Amino acid sequence: MESGKISVIRPFYEQIPEGEPVWDADGLLLLPSFRDAHVHLDKAFPDNQWISRSRTASIFDQFRMEKELLSSIKSRQLELSKRTLDSMLACGTTEARIHVDIDPEIGLSHFENMLLLREEYSSHMSIELVAFPQQGLLRSNSVPYLREALIMGADAVGGVDPAGVDRNVERCLDNVFQLAVEFDAEIDLHLHDPGHLGVYTIEKMLDFTEMAGWRGKVAVSHAYCLGEVDAGVVHELAERMAEEQMTVITSVPIDSAMPPIEILISHGVSVDIGTDHTGLDAWTPYGDPDLLRRGRRLAEKLTWNDDSRMAFAFGLISPKRLELQVGAPADFVLVKALNPQHALAISPPRDLVCKRGVPVSGSQLKNSWVCEKEEQ
Ligand SMILES: [Zn+2]
Repeated sequence: MESGKISVIRPFYEQIPEGEPVWDADGLLLLPSFRDAHVHLDKAFPDNQWISRSRTASIFDQFRMEKELLSSIKSRQLELSKRTLDSMLACGTTEARIHVDIDPEIGLSHFENMLLLREEYSSHMSIELVAFPQQGLLRSNSVPYLREALIMGADAVGGVDPAGVDRNVERCLDNVFQLAVEFDAEIDLHLHDPGHLGVYTIEKMLDFTEMAGWRGKVAVSHAYCLGEVDAGVVHELAERMAEEQMTVITSVPIDSAMPPIEILISHGVSVDIGTDHTGLDAWTPYGDPDLLRRGRRLAEKLTWNDDSRMAFAFGLISPKRLELQVGAPADFVLVKALNPQHALAISPPRDLVCKRGVPVSGSQLKNSWVCEKEEQ
């Protein structure tokens, strides 16, 4: 490795030239590290404290409950977000797209914390920040706050349910796209709206994408609706989604419908995987920061039990980097496994996690080359 990139790959039978620095991985398997395409850091609760939640009747009850619960841990938010980031790193995640709550009440306080963390972790994790109006862009009058976040350095404009929450699909999307175009930002919308209401929203997103010339810069997260309507509808929609290069991001839900990713992929639509919930939060007590386990859930759910589809599942949690190549960033994990499929099946502990060639986490961090050098 040189300057954070892989500079040479030697076959095992080749002698390593004398004098070259060597570290013996002792039979560990090297795998590309992971990208979490959808995660929230500002919703994490302390893991040594049970937070009681009650059942909620609507998404608005849920919003209210989350706000109350989050305000009770407000003073610890930075510390808790940091802990989440560390747990993601320990699982081998070295790239993440993070949605950050913004509304008139909390203002940009969460976003300011995330900017601090992005700076602090810049050598450990590549972080994209999405300005996310959790309470609804129009519903909570958050447009000016999102604009402020974009000025401060947000990479993408977020949103949630233009129909179900904002009650006006076109007006919501008009605002989202205007902000995106003004700041040359990407778009990533949470879409939980069901069935044909969700499909209508995606169609409108595609219209706006085409009008704004925003091809390749728009993603839809969750999109449960695609798993609820007839497959024929998805086939038709997927053609246009591929044309506009819209990405679908799923957390592989097992408690709701999931977009039929095999259909989407067959039409050339990109699919990314995110964890969404990394631990105990107001939405679920079952969050998990481990993308390898998420990839396993995907493969298991879709009964991808054969080698080639398991390798494909691995490629979804580590997009574009399945093959380590000379010149590629030296972002990788070392684990006790025989091949990527085996790693997906057993989710072994991450012995070492490296970002740009530097060990940043893992159970063997203390025995890694950097620490060895420091000791000498
Ligand atoms: Zn989310």
